Amino acid sequence: MSPAVLYRRLPGEGLDAFIAGFRKAAGHDPFGTVFIAPTASLAREVVRRLGEEGVPLVADAVTTLAGIARKIVSEHAARETLIPAAGSRLIIARLIAGGDYPLLSGAGAVDELAILFSVLTMRKVDYPAALGDLQGAKSAEIAALYRTYTRFLDEHRLIDESTLTARAIRLLSGDFRTVYVYGLFEPMPLERDLLLALRESAEEFFYAIPCAANPAVFADDGGWLHPDEIIEGKQTSAVAGLFSRGPPGDYRGLIRIAERRDRIDEVRAIAQEIRDLAAAGVRPGDIAVAFPDLDGAAPYVDEVFPDFGVPCTVSVGRPLSASPLVQALLSVLAAPARGYRRSDVIALVTSPYLPFTRGSELDILSREARIVAGTWDERLVALAANLDEQPEPEAARDRIAEKIAAIEAARITIRRLFADLATLEGAKTIPDHIAAYRLLLDTWRAPVMPGGGEPDLLDDEARDLAGFTRALAELEELARLLPGDKVPLSEFFSLIGTLTVGSRAGRRRNRNAVQVIGIREVPHISVPYLFIAGLVEGEMPRLTTRLPFLTDAETRRLGTRSKDDVLREERYHFIAALLAAQSRVYISYPAADDSTPLVRSGFVDAVREAFAPETWGNSDFPDSRLARAGRAGALLARGEAANPPGLTVREAVCRLNIENYHRKGGYDSPYDGLIGDDTAIAGRFGEEAVFSATALDTYADCPFRFSMEKVLGLAPLPPADPDLTAQERGNLVHRVACRFYAGWRRDGNGPVTEAGLPDALRRIQATGREEADRFTFTSPAWVAEKEHLLGSPAAGPGLLERFLRHDADMAASGLIPQAFEVSFGLPVSPGEVDLLSVPDAVAIPLGGETLRLRGRVDRVDVLPDGRFAITDYKTGSRHPVLKDIRAGKALQLPLYMRAVETLTGMQGVAGTYYTIRRGDVRNRPVFWDKAMKDCFGCFPGSQQSGVEDIRALVEGSLARAGEYLAGIRGGRFPPRSDAGPCPVYCGFKTICRFDGLRLITAGGEVNADGTD
Ligand code: SF4
Repeated sequence: MSPAVLYRRLPGEGLDAFIAGFRKAAGHDPFGTVFIAPTASLAREVVRRLGEEGVPLVADAVTTLAGIARKIVSEHAARETLIPAAGSRLIIARLIAGGDYPLLSGAGAVDELAILFSVLTMRKVDYPAALGDLQGAKSAEIAALYRTYTRFLDEHRLIDESTLTARAIRLLSGDFRTVYVYGLFEPMPLERDLLLALRESAEEFFYAIPCAANPAVFADDGGWLHPDEIIEGKQTSAVAGLFSRGPPGDYRGLIRIAERRDRIDEVRAIAQEIRDLAAAGVRPGDIAVAFPDLDGAAPYVDEVFPDFGVPCTVSVGRPLSASPLVQALLSVLAAPARGYRRSDVIALVTSPYLPFTRGSELDILSREARIVAGTWDERLVALAANLDEQPEPEAARDRIAEKIAAIEAARITIRRLFADLATLEGAKTIPDHIAAYRLLLDTWRAPVMPGGGEPDLLDDEARDLAGFTRALAELEELARLLPGDKVPLSEFFSLIGTLTVGSRAGRRRNRNAVQVIGIREVPHISVPYLFIAGLVEGEMPRLTTRLPFLTDAETRRLGTRSKDDVLREERYHFIAALLAAQSRVYISYPAADDSTPLVRSGFVDAVREAFAPETWGNSDFPDSRLARAGRAGALLARGEAANPPGLTVREAVCRLNIENYHRKGGYDSPYDGLIGDDTAIAGRFGEEAVFSATALDTYADCPFRFSMEKVLGLAPLPPADPDLTAQERGNLVHRVACRFYAGWRRDGNGPVTEAGLPDALRRIQATGREEADRFTFTSPAWVAEKEHLLGSPAAGPGLLERFLRHDADMAASGLIPQAFEVSFGLPVSPGEVDLLSVPDAVAIPLGGETLRLRGRVDRVDVLPDGRFAITDYKTGSRHPVLKDIRAGKALQLPLYMRAVETLTGMQGVAGTYYTIRRGDVRNRPVFWDKAMKDCFGCFPGSQQSGVEDIRALVEGSLARAGEYLAGIRGGRFPPRSDAGPCPVYCGFKTICRFDGLRLITAGGEVNADGTD
């Protein structure tokens, strides 16, 4: 056994001397000298320093403990194969897929089992015996899988990352004559065994253990090494005594603390501080930013640092699964593996990395066709057929024909795409799956890499692609070792997913840039300026002790790590990070994560109490391009001079005018929809134009919305709703009610009465079932919807029954349902609409001009004397009331009444809205002739809606319609001027003057002086 010298040192202390000792020994014996560091970051740093001194090094002479184990195994076990972490996961996944471990399946199981096996190995746990009386079916299954897994490794001569250490211990035989170990904190039992084995076989063994007079943190004094000599450190530090109620130190200059609003604000403050440091002459390479959760923080850094022009390099590449390019490549497998789900197929066809065009069109059509998964062609055919059946006016036929052609084109695209993807389907061996996948990507010439753009982004994409290609090759390699049985595509897809989660892309290295690293990589690295950010509970300290798949009691029984052990380790990393900073440490934490408040780390309080540090940072970000643009925008809005970045003077002046003049005060500019006389508009909406009552109601509510819909033809993206939409629900109820009454009346029946109710009920239920069966939905929501329509013992009477019962209750009014779906200005299909229907629009005189109206009246009820009431069925929760009609905001009922009068010569006496929805089935007159109380008094809520002069009311609406026509033809489309809120369904909120974000920015986020 070699003599071992143990150095007890503060973190970072004596590193130079250790490196110097190593350099000297390596000079004499380059192949027999090794330097072991606790992290890959420190190993790289030592190599860098030696490289700068021109010291030649043997590969892996400076490495981590895992690195040295790898070196030993690769030199002594040529026939064995070392597999990466992703490889372990693949083997575990394949073993579980065999179906012998039913208790261990489920999302995330593979990852958790891999972690558990690693802990059991590294901590030398005798599992499941160590559980004692806590053993059960689950632990038996885990143990069986663990045994099968290790047997599999042995049989196939494989070594994974945790069995690597044990294997290295067995293979070690005097490879290293001089061993330097620096800075390992509390090595695990198997790691200690390797260190002791190294000591045993070496001639000289030097071990520097992080140590300080602070038992709350530094509990390992290296006694387990049985050193021959112990050399105590000379340095002391109040920072090393943190958490131990030592005497407070004066670190006001060295340590500063800031609370920031949220995570993005925190990273912005750091970026600004770095810019300030750079302005004072500090080199970016002398600055490091450490996060407890580097993967979580990296996207913020990626977004913010370029905005501030801060060059940076992140110490680890991002997981492949987070790369947009890799996600696009995975979507190729996801689509067939998950049954051609809409979201997967649309992700595939809209990805810029895959060679498809018209993906957006397919997105819209698939939403309209209500595609969820699988039956794409069937649903697209149904969408086209549905469009073809729509009784649209002649003018709309071209548009519909175009749309049907687009659907046909989409069907061809989908057919070809699915034929390509079908080559991936079925059960194949893993190499065959990989071959089919590669062949398809080659056929498509995918991925499509951008020809130009942001250099860093292009670099990232190239690295992601290389990482993915490597991962695929690794899988292919591993697959040769796995049993060659066939696996379904879904399992192959899941294996690739596992692989991309566990693999990282390469990273950009740049010593001259700011180093962004995980806080657990910082110890011993000497850095002049260090930011420690994201210090919130749960991330630092991260006190998870429970092992995957085990309860707290089981974890305790295994005696792996207690909460105290974990806290001690977290405290150590924090102290070691603080000690790494040479000139200054900036500590910070976000107060919230979006709107969720966060609890700051107790470590921040410990620093505050011990050192009373100063604060840092402010709310001004002069070096942010975004902030500068915001300020320039604020100055422009106030009409003050500004030099906005990236704008010509002409553009700036134009925006100044728009913001400061055209979009302020009353509506008076084209930017607020006041287009004025325009021949195209006048032509399109002139004398011959046909209007619907809905279009006029839209104009009445908001002319701007009318112009978006009817002038520009814009429409919000349809919802990707797999169930009945509000419109479909309305159409269904309309069709059932119309078909029922048309048949009922044709057979010579009058109104539905108590006596006729059973027969009427039977007939309407039959119609309801028939209409509902036209929909092919299978979701539970649709099953429930149907039950509410038709009724069931569980749901009680359905809507249709309640509708008829209400009609029977109202039969006393004397009104007889007479005509249904009376249409005008729409194509007339015999048998589909009422005999009163005409294909031409109804011409309604409006003083000096004529309104050509189209529409469909749901129902006309007639009194024996020929006077009538019109009814509109509503399935929504709101409908206009008399006040809206008087205000000219709801023209539908008055216009329809006048249209029916024109068609029949009869006199209208009432307009009603018939609500047919869950919880509310009622026919309410919105206006009725007050002289006819005998007829309408029995209707619910009729007390408030009697009108003295129905004719005057209708004439008032017609006068408003005339004004609206003049407004439309005159090109006047301002946003609504109502004091009330805009309707929630308005899809144009983000482009009109009342865009919520625009208002917030104008009134809140940007101050009068242009700061935000
Ligand atoms: S948000 Fe209001 S004002 Fe703007 S378009 Fe919609 S309804 Fe009109």
